[in-house]
Amino acid sequence: MSKHVLVLADVRDGKLRNVSLESLAAARTVAEDGTITAAVFGSSGKDLADTLAHHGADKVVTVLNQELDQYTTDAYFQAFKKVVEHVQPDVIFTGHTAVGKDVSPRVAARLGTGLVSDCTNVELAEGKIVFTRPIYAGKAFVKKVVKEGTVFATLRPNNISAGEPDTSRTAVIEELQVDLTSDSLRTLVKNIVKKSTEGVDLSEARIIVSGGRGVKSADGFKPLQELADVLGAAVGASRGACDSGYCDYALQIGQTGKVVTPDLYIACGISGAIQHLAGMSNSKVIVAINKDPEAPIFQVADYGIVGDLFDVVPMLTEEFKKL
Ligand code: FAD
Repeated sequence: MSKHVLVLADVRDGKLRNVSLESLAAARTVAEDGTITAAVFGSSGKDLADTLAHHGADKVVTVLNQELDQYTTDAYFQAFKKVVEHVQPDVIFTGHTAVGKDVSPRVAARLGTGLVSDCTNVELAEGKIVFTRPIYAGKAFVKKVVKEGTVFATLRPNNISAGEPDTSRTAVIEELQVDLTSDSLRTLVKNIVKKSTEGVDLSEARIIVSGGRGVKSADGFKPLQELADVLGAAVGASRGACDSGYCDYALQIGQTGKVVTPDLYIACGISGAIQHLAGMSNSKVIVAINKDPEAPIFQVADYGIVGDLFDVVPMLTEEFKKL
């Protein structure tokens, strides 16, 4: 049975995040011959419509209010709820990102519908959508089917291939008016101060160089940053490194930090506690550098290097520079 799928585009600094295209790929998997609608918020909305169409959107609903240029819970909640009520989809996909994790449950709760969070895959079986999501901190996966009603799902970045764009595709564009007056908004973003740690987006990075307490100081992250720069990678961290004050908590990966699924995860001086593994064990290739051969991280690593990270990491950097 065909399904009408709505995808909320995740936009940062006026650009589409890759998870939006991955969500459209997921929509193509489940829609059969149903319509795929993408919703895009903020004043750059119209500029992004072509890319959304190239990746499978049949229709693009824009809400162009500039109050939506930066994410705020109030404004996105109001706009997203209105779009869902207007579009009346069977299933709604957002990224499992700060935006999707905040707005989807709110709208789902307000509309009294179900939500499956943090999906790593979606597929069709006998006309029903089957959602796969990790449980027990990533040690197992569960498949879920929602028997009736509209369902929201948040999709973990880097798990579903966005596929190649079809530049011949076009979409119908509809502008929806949403009245976002200052009376209805309780928060107003006046200024965004970017952290110096911001480089490659951690949750969408293809390669992550991650440091643990073994880096021993804030300066100890420098060789990791150098390796990351050569590889075009993001820098991440264990909570041990964050708690020790070596880096910002924005870098924390794990159960209470970010969940990442890069193609390559290089863990430097990280012991491999279960709470850290919960955030990175689904990485496609894991390289561990640790001077303790008994460190648990080696149990999940595809490649292990027993050695001092301050010797090994600069050697890797030099070798990758030659490529
Ligand atoms: P350590 O366990 O101290 O390991 C340091 C490692 O570095 C050791 O294996 C050591 O052999 C190695 N090493 C030292 N020097 C060198 C060197 N020169 N070269 C190479 N190797 C070296 N942790 C997370 O990471 N993310 C989370 O989200 C998270 N959430 C948590 C939630 C809860 C409720 C709790 C209770 C804990 C959580 N933790 C989390 C903490 C977790 O249990 C561990 O304490 C933490 O992951 C340890 O960090 P670490 O591996 O950097 O430090």
